Amino acid sequence: MGLFDKLKEAFKKPEDYKAPIDLMKEQEETAIQEPVVEEVEVIEPVEVEVKETEPVVEENTQEKYTKGLEKTRKTFSERMNELFANFRSVDEDFFEEVEEALIGADVGFETSMKITEELRQEVKLQNAKKPAVVQNLIIEKLVDLYEAEGIGENNAINLQENGLTVILFVGVNGVGKTTSIGKLANQYKLEGKKVLLAAADTFRAGAINQLVVWGERAGVEVVRGKEGGDPAAVVFDAVVRAKKEHADVLLVDTAGRLQNKVNLMNELEKIKRIIEREIPDAPHEVLLVLDATTGQNAMVQAKQFKETTDVTGLVLTKLDGTAKGGIVLAIRNELHLPVKLVGLGEKITDLQEFVPEDFVVGLFKELMQDESK
Ligand code: GDP
Ligand code: MG
Repeated sequence: MGLFDKLKEAFKKPEDYKAPIDLMKEQEETAIQEPVVEEVEVIEPVEVEVKETEPVVEENTQEKYTKGLEKTRKTFSERMNELFANFRSVDEDFFEEVEEALIGADVGFETSMKITEELRQEVKLQNAKKPAVVQNLIIEKLVDLYEAEGIGENNAINLQENGLTVILFVGVNGVGKTTSIGKLANQYKLEGKKVLLAAADTFRAGAINQLVVWGERAGVEVVRGKEGGDPAAVVFDAVVRAKKEHADVLLVDTAGRLQNKVNLMNELEKIKRIIEREIPDAPHEVLLVLDATTGQNAMVQAKQFKETTDVTGLVLTKLDGTAKGGIVLAIRNELHLPVKLVGLGEKITDLQEFVPEDFVVGLFKELMQDESK
């Protein structure tokens, strides 16, 4: 079943739409995570309040996506409503408006053009006239293109079955590297893995401590050096220790100052070389973290990093805080880098593996129209 069919399925049965079986398994994992949230309370009083006022609701992944993508979905449906409010006929003006609406939703320029072009052909082919039919066609084109661009894409983290997995996190300041590492460390720890963190952002004041705090929340050790020290030395220490202690996962935090791009890239290369020297097939992932709220700017960053570093996947953060979730379509169509993780909130449990299906349902479910009307 294609993605669009799954979306139709979800539309038909909004009440009892159930996530696939393997997603239910994650729900169980969420249940196990509860005690750790308690730990967070000790460190951050603010979170205690949130915890106490909000009843503990078990959410499956689909629900997390639905919630995290709320802003994008709302904005997108507003645009659709505007588009169809003045709908008279499917003429050239209409197609131009569709294109504008898509570009406005950060779907990306190329992607918007492509979708509109396909829509033109499909509308002609089907002789579609009813707004509901045309609207569903727009969504179908979006979903189809999104799916087609993702064929052969591996969204899973390349975890080594035996031995150490090293994951390097890169990206400019403020995108959510440290936070994502903390969240991921917590997940892996709960899965019973031995996790180690390396505080290789020695550049920004407070960066080491921030990682240490996340380490405490997740209950994992942090290898650290001095502020202003050599990040490669910290990484070296961390790799040696991870090997010695038979750790399963080493997550490496890095600095992200972009004011000196050449230095940043040189530093990342040096870190990678050190890791490779100790473990020939590592790093197993180089994850570029992008802040979804920055929209097209995130695309520019991705292109820059891709040119100079072997990025293996993306972490797209702050999807909950933005209407620019359409950026995922642009990323697939224009960058061909798999999104591996998404940040859907600030809580320790708000990092999810990227599930294209949940993403699409979370984005478009409420936009589907009843064509019989
Ligand atoms: P870094 O400089 O790349 O390490 O970024 P940080 O990890 O320090 O994160 C910067 C800010 O983004 C922090 O205030 C985080 O709480 C926030 N943040 C990170 N991920 C998410 C997310 O998925 N959702 C929301 N709402 N905020 C996030
Ligand atoms: Mg950081």
